[in-house]
Amino acid sequence: MTGTNWAGNLTYSATKLLEPTSVEELQSVVAAAPHLRALGSRHSFNSIADTNGVQVSVAALPPEFSVNADRTGVTVSAGLRYGELIGHLDRAGLALHNLASLPHISVGGAIATGTHGSGDRNGSLASAVSALQIMRPDGEVHDYCRGDDDFDGMVVSLGSLGIVTYVSLDVVPTFEVRQDLFENLPWKSVTDHLDEITASAYSVSLFTNWGEQVDQVWLKSRSDDAPPPAELFGATPATRQLHPLPEESAVSTTVQLGVPGPWWDRLPHFQLAFTPSKGAELQTEYLVPRDRALEAIDAVRAIAHLLRPHLFISEIRTVAGDGLWLSPAHSTNCVALHFTWQPHMSEVQALLPRLDDALAPFAARPHWGKLFETDSARLAEAYPRLTDFRTLADRFDPEHRLANDLTSQWLGR
Ligand SMILES: Cc1cc2nc3c(=O)[nH]c(=O)nc-3n(C[C@H](O)[C@H](O)[C@H](O)COP(=O)(O)OP(=O)(O)OC[C@H]3O[C@@H](n4cnc5c(N)ncnc54)[C@H](O)[C@@H]3O)c2cc1C
Repeated sequence: MTGTNWAGNLTYSATKLLEPTSVEELQSVVAAAPHLRALGSRHSFNSIADTNGVQVSVAALPPEFSVNADRTGVTVSAGLRYGELIGHLDRAGLALHNLASLPHISVGGAIATGTHGSGDRNGSLASAVSALQIMRPDGEVHDYCRGDDDFDGMVVSLGSLGIVTYVSLDVVPTFEVRQDLFENLPWKSVTDHLDEITASAYSVSLFTNWGEQVDQVWLKSRSDDAPPPAELFGATPATRQLHPLPEESAVSTTVQLGVPGPWWDRLPHFQLAFTPSKGAELQTEYLVPRDRALEAIDAVRAIAHLLRPHLFISEIRTVAGDGLWLSPAHSTNCVALHFTWQPHMSEVQALLPRLDDALAPFAARPHWGKLFETDSARLAEAYPRLTDFRTLADRFDPEHRLANDLTSQWLGR
């Protein structure tokens, strides 16, 4: 046994965890293991990173951080956590276009599941990937670049194509961001002005427990963009630092109250040195096309009485569409509806089909790294390139050595 995932809701069934320190050693590990799967920083809530064989971490491979000659891209170790990568980027005067709510996750794990932050014009973290080095299950190392045949199928891979060793990412010159929070946004403002609200800053997050109003709105504005609005459709400007979970100390959150700071210290909600979010929790998230967002929000509000007893908080964000086959934002701009559940595993599991049924009419796509109950037929409908991905997975891994029960069920293979 190799322990539990970050949230502790899952004990992996893998027989061992290996951390090779060279590509040659990784090759031997891959050659010897009948069944294997890459493990990142363990932050997924379902068994996507599990196997009944060997888990392989690439965190101990020789570290890599190199900047392209034109300073528009970097190549990094897939096992690097964003929290480590941002130090390298900062020293080079560079930035990623966006980050997730936490910097604790690995690059390889985040891109494999389509992890995203927020922002109308910000694609998922995977959308910044320009090249990948993948060790396929036959032990061969292959380099793939944006524009290569099927590259768009390889980035959000669910860990099903091989072990990603190194990743190239688009970068931009460093920038500063300020966070301005508002409290108690009326639902009517969301209904009437959702597009204006999400366009009011570089990255916008709405936090709610689906009660009388949206409890908090976080505006993350670039210093080189327009300043944040002084008023936000009836919400009240926050006058103290907040945590999305009202009962938690805000000491773990990134600096707010309009104080500008580096991109990496404002785009995530939580600081690297602290436990992000709550810790003992579960998560679920669906992305819906923007033009179905208000209907989807209404559908969740209609079952809020069922969800609330098991919910810590929900977050509503936006994600720009991309071309990646299994990206939850594939080919359409999206609104993401996220649920941070209390650690009530059986009750949450019982609710998941209900939530899935409520959101299915709006072409909702579940986040691959979180908890959901969507059958393979609906997944194939929601992800139009799923069948192409299955064909790709069969080509990369004909003996299904990387498959696990969950991915086999999702992909129908
Ligand atoms: C507190 C918290 C906050 C979160 N916030 C967000 C958020 O803001 N936005 C969001 O979208 N998600 C969020 N997530 C979900 C999280 O980003 C995803 O679950 C992500 O996949 C976790 O990355 P990881 O490195 O822990 O990967 P793991 O959970 O360890 O693995 C995930 C998948 O990646 C594969 N993988 C890992 N490394 C490699 C590799 N080198 N090669 C090939 N495959 C690999 C694994 O096989 C597995 O399939 C959050 C999770 C937590 C716990």
